[in-house]
Parts: sequence; structure tokens; C-alpha cells
Amino acid sequence: MQSERIEPEVLLLMGPPGAGKGTQADLLAQTRGLTKLSTGDMLRDHVRRGTELGQQAKALMDEGVLVADDIIIGMVSSELAEMNPIRVLLDGFPRTTAQAEALDELLSGYEVAVNAAVELVVDEDELVRRLKSRADQEGRSDDNVDTIRTRMRVYREQTSPLLDYYREQGKLLSLPGEGSTSEVRSRIEAALERQPTW
Ligand code: AMP
Repeated sequence: MQSERIEPEVLLLMGPPGAGKGTQADLLAQTRGLTKLSTGDMLRDHVRRGTELGQQAKALMDEGVLVADDIIIGMVSSELAEMNPIRVLLDGFPRTTAQAEALDELLSGYEVAVNAAVELVVDEDELVRRLKSRADQEGRSDDNVDTIRTRMRVYREQTSPLLDYYREQGKLLSLPGEGSTSEVRSRIEAALERQPTW
């Protein structure tokens, strides 16, 4: 009997802090049967467990700046190595050009590639408003006003150039991140249906 082959799939969720990546990543991973990998969640887990990596990362995270590329790439690399086939939704990775290039190289070792990068676009006033309310609700130590500003700047300077990287490959889907969770979710699913890179 012939069993149906499960196709690999690699989706990226991009957007500034507060754009709603985490929520949409959970939904999208569930709908498409992907494993969600959030480098932010992985780092927070290290901090909670008090590992050496967690101790190094905590100060950087509290400041709102990025953790070193090689640490992040190593974390993602070992997770990908556990997947067969690779079906993954990456949330908050890549965040620098070096990470994007390393991801391409890692994936090519498994003969797969990024299928699509979904960017959630939300205007900056709305982002600050959302992050402050998340700070009240969740008490994340990097959701205070100074750190929020730094994270926005880091996104603008280090991460937003990646949008062009994926746009040039015809893989970028830029979608409004405003509206209810289910509105944004439907928007993402509709855009992926139209995406020609599969
Ligand atoms: P996030 O939950 O994705 O907003 O990430 C929280 C913090 O973890 C960031 O502000 C960074 O300090 C760190 N971090 C998460 N993902 C990455 C990444 N891909 N590269 C570097 N630092 C990261």
C-alpha cells in the first residue's frame, strides 16, 4: 500500500514587537499541522530554568537588544535536526541577515526552503498601545516603555531589511495586522492559499 507523502513546509512570521505574531503563530501552526518554533519562547524557557545560556540572554532581552546570532542559529539548528519531514512555523526568527542566510543554508542541507514569509503590518502607535497592555496582563519584563522603544528600533534597523530579502524572492506576504484575531487569521490563510511558491 502506498502511504501519502507528508510534504515539508517552512513558514516565517515576521513583524515588529506587538504585531500579534505569537497569537497568529499558534493558530497557523495548528491549522497547517506545523511545529511552532519561537526563539523568544525558547530563550524565556532558558531564563526560567536558569541555564548558562539563559543567564547570558536575560540582560540582553531585558534591554530589548538581540542575542548573538550563533547562539540563536544553534538553537534553531538542533530543533530542525529533530524534524522529519521539516514542517515548521518560525516565530521571531530570523531577525538578522546573518540568521536568514544561516537558515537558508540549514534548510538546503535538508533539500527544503522557506515557502513564505508572512509580515504583519501594524502602525507604531497601535504597537506601543498593545505592548503596554500586554505588560499589564502578562508582566513580561521586556514590555516596559524603554525596552519597547529599543525593540522597535532594533526591529527597524536589524530585522526590517529582511523584508526585502524575502520580497526579492517573491516570498513576502505583507498583511495588515489590525483587526480581530480571527480577521487577521483569515487574511493570512487567504494569502497563503494564493502563494505560488509551493
Ligand atoms: P520575542 O519574544 O520574539 O519578542 O523575543 C524576545 C527577546 O528575545 C528579543 O527582544 C531578543 O532579545 C531575544 N530574541 C528572540 N528571538 C531572537 C532572534 N531570532 N535573534 C536574536 N535575539 C532574539
